[in-house]
Amino acid sequence: MNLFEELRFFYCLVTFTIGLSMKPGTQLRCVRCGFRLDEVRYVDRCPQCGGLLIPTFTGSLRRTGGSGVWVWGRALYTAFMKPKVTLGEGHTPLTKSIKMGRSLKADLYFKDESKNPTGSFIDRGAATLATALRRFRVRSISVASTGDLGISVSTYVRRIGLTTRIYVPSSVTLSKAYKTLLTGGRVRFVDSYEEALLRASRSAKLYGVMIPPSHPYLMDGYRTIAFEILHELGGGKPLSLVVPIGDGVLTMSLYHAFKDLSIRPKFLGVKACRESPLLREIYVMKPVLHEYLEEIASLGILEVVDVCDDEALEASELAVKNEGFLVGPVGASCIAALLKTGPEAVRDRVTVALVTGDPLQDPYIMKALLERTVGTREELLTLGFTKTKILEMVAYSDPTHPYVIWKGLRSRYGLSVSRRTVYKHVEELIDAGLLKVVSYRKVGGRLRKVISITESGLRHLT
Ligand SMILES: [Zn+2]
Repeated sequence: MNLFEELRFFYCLVTFTIGLSMKPGTQLRCVRCGFRLDEVRYVDRCPQCGGLLIPTFTGSLRRTGGSGVWVWGRALYTAFMKPKVTLGEGHTPLTKSIKMGRSLKADLYFKDESKNPTGSFIDRGAATLATALRRFRVRSISVASTGDLGISVSTYVRRIGLTTRIYVPSSVTLSKAYKTLLTGGRVRFVDSYEEALLRASRSAKLYGVMIPPSHPYLMDGYRTIAFEILHELGGGKPLSLVVPIGDGVLTMSLYHAFKDLSIRPKFLGVKACRESPLLREIYVMKPVLHEYLEEIASLGILEVVDVCDDEALEASELAVKNEGFLVGPVGASCIAALLKTGPEAVRDRVTVALVTGDPLQDPYIMKALLERTVGTREELLTLGFTKTKILEMVAYSDPTHPYVIWKGLRSRYGLSVSRRTVYKHVEELIDAGLLKVVSYRKVGGRLRKVISITESGLRHLT
């Protein structure tokens, strides 16, 4: 072989190797118009119609070497990009329910996404996104976030030295606000999520690119939740998934990932009630992907369930008591949705409830959980706001019954707590010796307790 032939052979080998490493095993496809992206270039939506681009995989699912989400190799669109960014995300526990599944007559599992590096499933997408941003030499990004997206993306892109501008509603929980600040991005607190989206878009025009929550490189990583579930449970039985709806991005990512693998699960999508402070980080007025969600809902694949604070806290309490599973209200919202819909929605199906949000990260949530699971023993707890207001109401009025207290909390303090919660608070205050039953009164054909404050209760207020 002469020098020319050697050079030619070497050139062919290099071209072949680059060709292999550049060729995606998965394509990006537009859900709206069907456009398929064949070339490798930076995109965040369909170049033809502006629709949602979803990674589409054909072939059999195989685990490869590597760590984090990258074990799924060519099933990921971004798998051909190098070097890969990872913090060891994914591989989260899939735990079989002991009691709750039995009572729902369902083969129930919890997929604990709080075990990801920053405590959220978004880390899976942040790994694929950061890898793509590096591949396309993006220098600066802007993100609008209700909490987790900003924390996760900002953490991952720090590993590749990107500048991040994060816009967060000021209603975000304090722990999320601190965590976002700690990631090192430039954080701006604004009035609402809608304003955050607007500001992030404006900032991107000046400083770089905006990362919409439905970015295909983010959704690429979210699909690994489907891969893991299928890998562990197999695809033999009908499957139901319970997921928070949020912007609709997780639901759409999982729906298409399963569809590529010829699995058609049913989705129970959890939407937070509007006036639910504990669930505010998953409350979105109108999901970004609402048109796509409506389409799969019309096919009977998706059912949306509203969950409020009370229901989520009750689910947290049951998860701790029945399953030994410490989970905050956001994570428990999926369990609450299951309890609310009842056995019919999940009967004879393998059901996986996605759990996110570590309650240990937020003292306020820990306290709310303690109030339910432990009670209000004076030596243990300072009374919460609602209980204090109940004590005040009873202290400054004649002996009354819990229904009147519930009405008073609404009219005097604007507290929109359910009647059931107020009754529970009253029972706990009686157990703690701060209130007492003085008599019974028949109201509307029902016998109701008449409540008065005790000396211990009065001491508590002073
Ligand atoms: Zn399109």
